[in-house]
Amino acid sequence: MEECREYYNAADIFGENVFNDAVMQERLPKKVYQRLKEIIRGGKELDLATADVIAHEMKEWAIEKGATHYTHWFQPMTGVTAEKHDAFITAPMENGRVLMSFSGKELIKGEPDASSFPSGGLRATFEARGYTAWDCTSPAFVRQDAAGATLCIPTAFCSYTGEALDQKTPLLRSMEAVNEQTMRLIRLMGNKTSRKITASVGPEQEYFIVDRAKYLKRKDLIFTGRTLFGAMPPKGQEMDDHYFGTIRERIAAYMRDVNKELWKLGVSAKTQHNEVAPAQHELAPIYASANVAVDHNQLVMETLKKVAGRHGLQCLLHEKPFAGVNGSGKHNNWSITTDDGINLLDPGVTPHENFQFLLILTCILKAVDVHADLLREAAADVGNDHRLGANEAPPAIISVYLGEQLEDVLKQLISTGEATRSIAGSMLETGVKTLPDFMKDATDRNRTSPFAFTGNKFEFRMIGSQDSIAQANVVLNTIVAEAFAEACDVLENSSDFELALHDLIKKNATEHQRIVFNGNGYSEEWVKEAKRRGLPNITSMVDAIPSLNTEKSVRLFEKFGVFTKAELDSRVEIEYETYAKKINIEARAMIDIAAKQIIPAVIKYTTVLASSVSAVQAACGTADTSVQAGLLNEVSFLLAETKGALTKLEALAAKGAAMEEGRTQAVFYRDQVMKAMEALRNPVDKLEMLVDKEMWPMPSYGDLMFEV
Ligand code: ADP
Ligand code: MG
Repeated sequence: MEECREYYNAADIFGENVFNDAVMQERLPKKVYQRLKEIIRGGKELDLATADVIAHEMKEWAIEKGATHYTHWFQPMTGVTAEKHDAFITAPMENGRVLMSFSGKELIKGEPDASSFPSGGLRATFEARGYTAWDCTSPAFVRQDAAGATLCIPTAFCSYTGEALDQKTPLLRSMEAVNEQTMRLIRLMGNKTSRKITASVGPEQEYFIVDRAKYLKRKDLIFTGRTLFGAMPPKGQEMDDHYFGTIRERIAAYMRDVNKELWKLGVSAKTQHNEVAPAQHELAPIYASANVAVDHNQLVMETLKKVAGRHGLQCLLHEKPFAGVNGSGKHNNWSITTDDGINLLDPGVTPHENFQFLLILTCILKAVDVHADLLREAAADVGNDHRLGANEAPPAIISVYLGEQLEDVLKQLISTGEATRSIAGSMLETGVKTLPDFMKDATDRNRTSPFAFTGNKFEFRMIGSQDSIAQANVVLNTIVAEAFAEACDVLENSSDFELALHDLIKKNATEHQRIVFNGNGYSEEWVKEAKRRGLPNITSMVDAIPSLNTEKSVRLFEKFGVFTKAELDSRVEIEYETYAKKINIEARAMIDIAAKQIIPAVIKYTTVLASSVSAVQAACGTADTSVQAGLLNEVSFLLAETKGALTKLEALAAKGAAMEEGRTQAVFYRDQVMKAMEALRNPVDKLEMLVDKEMWPMPSYGDLMFEV
């Protein structure tokens, strides 16, 4: 890797490849610009004449950046983004030359032949029309890479009959729901100035970095993103010396490149540090509107992977690349803010006097309590099953951490119906004259809570590292919209507003206090206590999926126009299918590796041991060959166990693959195939500790994690 020491001002390159507000203001005719702003605000519909002008300017701008193609960039239910590229060129003219063109129609609507994307029965392949529609609330950008430069237009993806086939459509619908209901609520509370509410999101992204040459020797990583075999290295994360440790040069150079790429795309990459596990890191951007944050998080994941290749590295986004070592997740920081800059989750200095905040807070408690199952489901993904509830990520039980100050206010509300005081933050005294003393926050942090109040936002910490954050925000926006709507219904119909408000805050707090938990979420006691409180503990994805289309869920999502029942049913189907398919790939990868790499390597080693026994004895009849013989015995025993487990896994995987898609198949993969996979892994990991390292067919955990 050649050293690149280029220094630049981040502000100069930030957003240089984005068709952002500044560019639009500069390039679009004033009237068109103003019309577009109104459309983005949600006040007007887009007409073709306006779209034509915007498309033309967008194209001119993109061509100046070297773009030859454009693409409708969308997010089908595969968890990643999809795109189909079209060149700007038109049919050659008589003189043989071409023009570059891009019409309003092409900007607004695309029709990818997208029949192969998961639709969960919403479309049969014979009626495979799917449309992409321009989402003008997320700015277009030019992506420059080995494929050249491409104008990427964020779009929603729907079926011919208008059903959502993607992550963006429901997200936009849920943002409208939370906007509408929150506006209703703050108007009731006397706010006359704000005109729009935005759900804001800042996702913190964790990832692993390994050496690409070593990665390429691990078929499990290549096919499934995680290691399916691997004994623990002598050193793990027990020393906590990697967390926030100095970033090594090779990784630092990589991060530098990642930041540069992201800044050019207008992604405000802000924080980077080493994480708990060896070779694990984190990147967090500055928060943005939920829609932009979801798009940007996809760009972050793409960029992390792409740039790694240029540095001879490989980025692992899987939730659990290594067994026995912390996995990766995503913390979804969420808040609701007004267009005039008020964060509605800001408690102020004396939260007990802030009735609007107390109403909002207790409504959120209600939302999370009533729909804990849906939030859990939103974090369900195949890889995340290895984390949730496994003593590292938050537990699979949803609870809310409020911190000392708010919990105290809540207690006062519940016991006396009134809160009269707020615990104040105190001075932090360092005890060293030359160090400053400062005010500390009124509330400490709790790292074990899945849903924690952190000052002026909630942090939902359950999402998996490779998952889209869209679904979690769809759920958050919608359940909060519902709780607000129900509160407004009560308040709008009351004869004594103040009394009704007071009663409602107390009622919400009392009825939903069971969801509040400030203790250690990783402890065994909490599992018992949560059970006593009647909180759901859904430990696997397969058991989380049904929450999507319960009667309660259908009522919620249909009420706010976020999902129809048909859309929810389709998502249930897709998730079961995805689950079974992914585990099936893992099982087949294990079979492949065990049969073609591990068993042959172990046989070779046994041959070496056997010939060593006879060679040594031939040379010296009295020599002690008990070590070789003992090893040969042990290795052969484990080899036989491996072969037996392999045969069983082969049979079960074949049986699973032949089953009809749906819940029964998914359950079979979880209960039968996964168990058989474990049974195969066991003897292999023991063998790895016995067989000559030179003969082991792939790099070890230690090689991967400590030799980057
Ligand atoms: P932590 O200490 O948990 O890492 P940070 O202050 O670094 O917290 O913030 C983590 C993420 O939360 C960042 O992406 C940040 O931009 C985002 N964030 C901060 N304030 C808000 C807010 N009001 N709403 C949504 N996200 C926010
Ligand atoms: Mg955080």
